[in-house]
Amino acid sequence: MNVRLAARYPFRKESADVLKESGVTLDRLITSIAYQEARSLGKQRVLEAVEYAKIVSHPMTNETNAMNELLSYPVARMLVSCLGDKKFVHRYAVAEAKLANSRMTEEAERSKERETKGVRKSAGDDGVAFVVRLAGELGLQVHHAGDSLIVEFGDYLRCSSAMKSKSWKLVNQDVSGGRTRITEERLIRLVEQMITDGIISELPLPVNDEILGALSDDVDDIRLALEEKRAEQPEKDFGTISIVRFPPCMKKLLEMIRAGENVPHTGRFALVAFLHTLGMDSNAILATFAMSADFDENKSRYQIQHITGEISGTEYTPPECNTMRSYGICFDPDDLCNRDWMVHPLTYYRIKGKKPRKKRGKVKGGTSRSGARAGRR
Ligand code: SF4
Repeated sequence: MNVRLAARYPFRKESADVLKESGVTLDRLITSIAYQEARSLGKQRVLEAVEYAKIVSHPMTNETNAMNELLSYPVARMLVSCLGDKKFVHRYAVAEAKLANSRMTEEAERSKERETKGVRKSAGDDGVAFVVRLAGELGLQVHHAGDSLIVEFGDYLRCSSAMKSKSWKLVNQDVSGGRTRITEERLIRLVEQMITDGIISELPLPVNDEILGALSDDVDDIRLALEEKRAEQPEKDFGTISIVRFPPCMKKLLEMIRAGENVPHTGRFALVAFLHTLGMDSNAILATFAMSADFDENKSRYQIQHITGEISGTEYTPPECNTMRSYGICFDPDDLCNRDWMVHPLTYYRIKGKKPRKKRGKVKGGTSRSGARAGRR
C-alpha cells in the first residue's frame, strides 16, 4: 500500500502495517525533533475535533507530507487517550469518521469523472470498489448485482442500528431474498458509522508516564480548548435562554447532539420544538444541530422550518412528559420531574425560572410578619 493511501485511511490494518514498516518507534514519535511536524499535525487533528467536530483534509503533495499525515493519526489517538475524557472520545471518533467520509466521497466522485471522460478503470481504481473493499475490511460484506450494491439483511440491521431517521428503517428499504439494496452514498455513510464505532471501542488507549510526560503541554492546551468550547456554548447558542433551567431530557438530547451521537427522530423533534417555543430562531437551532452525526444542512433546515411552522403553517410544541416517556426519551428524571403535577418539559423550564418564595418566619428586626400584624391590631 502506498503512503498516501495509508494516510488517507489511517485506521486500516494495512495502514498500520505501513507504519510498522517505516520503523518509527513510539518513543521516537513522541520525543524526537524529527517528528515535530507529525506531532503538531496530530495536535491540530484533535484541536479541530474540539472546535468543529470535523477534521480538515490536508493536501499531501509529497511522500514526506503523507508520512507526517499518517504519523499524526497515532499521535492524535495518544493525545485523546491522555485527555481521558469519555465524551470527547465520541466527538473525536465522529470527526475522524467524517473526514474518512469526505475522502471516500472524493474517491467515488473522481471515479465517476474518469468514467464520464471514458478513461479505462483498472481493478481497484474504481472509487466504489474501493469503498466496498473498505466496508469488507470493517466487517460489512457488500455484493454487486448489476449496477446495484446489495448487503445481507442481518448485516444491514447491525450496521445501521445507530441511524435513527425513518429513511434507514428496514420497512423503507428495497428488500428481497434476505438482502437489501443500498446506494453508494448510503454505503459510505454505513462505513463512516463503522469507523466511528471502531474508534470509540479502541479509545482511550493505555498511556504510561513517559507518554503522559512527553505530551503533557499539548494535552494541557487541548484540555483548555475543550473547557473553553464547553463554557462558551451555552451563551453563544442560547442567548437569553437559560440552559440551567432545561429539564434533564432536553439537557441529555442537547448533550448527545453536541457529542455527535445519533439522536432518534423523536428526540430531534422534541428538542427543536422546545428551543423554538423558548424563542430561539431557526438559524440558531440549525447551528445547534450542526454537530449531530447525521447532519445534512438542507435536510435539517427543512425539518426545523417545518416544526417551527415557517413552511408548514403549524408551529409544533414539544411533546408532554407521558409522550416523551413512551418515546424512550425521558432521560434521567430528577426530583422535580417526579412531582405529580409535572406533565410537560416546558413546565419544568418555567418552574425552574421562578424565584423561590421567601420562607415565612423571622424578618429583619426579629419580628415575624404575623407578629407585626398582631402588633398593629
Ligand atoms: S419527566 Fe418530563 S421534564 Fe422530566 S425528564 Fe422526563 S420528559 Fe423531561
